[in-house]
Amino acid sequence: MEIKEVVAKSILTPSKLPDADFVVNPYTGCRFGCIYCYASFMCRYVGKDINDWGEFVYVKTNAAELLKTAVLKLKNKGIGKRILFSSVTDPYQGVEAKYQITRKCLEVLVDADYQGLVSILTKSDLVLRDIDLFQKLKNIEIGLTITSFEDGISRYFEKYAPNVTQRFEALRKLNSEGLKTYAFVGPLLPHFVAYPEKLDELFKKIKETGTNDIYVEHINLSTYILNRLKKEAVGLDKAVLEKFYSSKNKDYRDQLDLIIKDCVKKHQLNIRLESAIYHKESLNSANITL
Ligand code: SF4
Repeated sequence: MEIKEVVAKSILTPSKLPDADFVVNPYTGCRFGCIYCYASFMCRYVGKDINDWGEFVYVKTNAAELLKTAVLKLKNKGIGKRILFSSVTDPYQGVEAKYQITRKCLEVLVDADYQGLVSILTKSDLVLRDIDLFQKLKNIEIGLTITSFEDGISRYFEKYAPNVTQRFEALRKLNSEGLKTYAFVGPLLPHFVAYPEKLDELFKKIKETGTNDIYVEHINLSTYILNRLKKEAVGLDKAVLEKFYSSKNKDYRDQLDLIIKDCVKKHQLNIRLESAIYHKESLNSANITL
């Protein structure tokens, strides 16, 4: 595992993501190493092989300084603008406990009296450390990515991320603190078409934490992800792999969309962007900062 301190050139990056005007990625690389991670394409920008994803993290030591300068340039203290932490890394992965780059960036936003929406997206309960700052921000929402309710499944697909039980607990705690939260159910894992009751159970458990808003996303199966999946998924049931491959197929997604619709209605959740997101290709250089 390689951890390196680097000096970044920029930090507040304009975004074409549907619900973000800017993204902040305090780190390059992500130790959580999820085997379906679309951000693994970042390897090519730092001279790494795609199979190194999860094995390196570059720490942007000057991120807060850069953010301070960038935020001062925003009109009206950023009113109406949404900043997402993060798009190609997890802002609360393990190194954050030591370096606190995400925390320092949030402190900048508090000090600047930032008026836009700050949206956090993570798989880690380390996010709870920063509740004091969340309480000070004018407009903040915190999202936990939850792709399954079974720890065994999350351990398999999201190798080094905190297990899902901890993520449900984190949502519950954030809700109990009166903070606005959402769950990001993505990518949808392949067994949900075969076992719709599992998606039903997942949505039920999200609702039970007190969270009402969800994003749902179909898996992105670009060639580089498929190649990584094939290498990492040694031993995975062939039938499950077939399901993965068929998620490129519109009929499969339509079937899944119907299941999602039923579950959303049943558990009275609010699905953001109105339906499940599907990124055909997501190599969006606008979301990259080194
Ligand atoms: S936590 Fe997010 S950025 Fe990190 S490896 Fe997993 S999917 Fe990729």
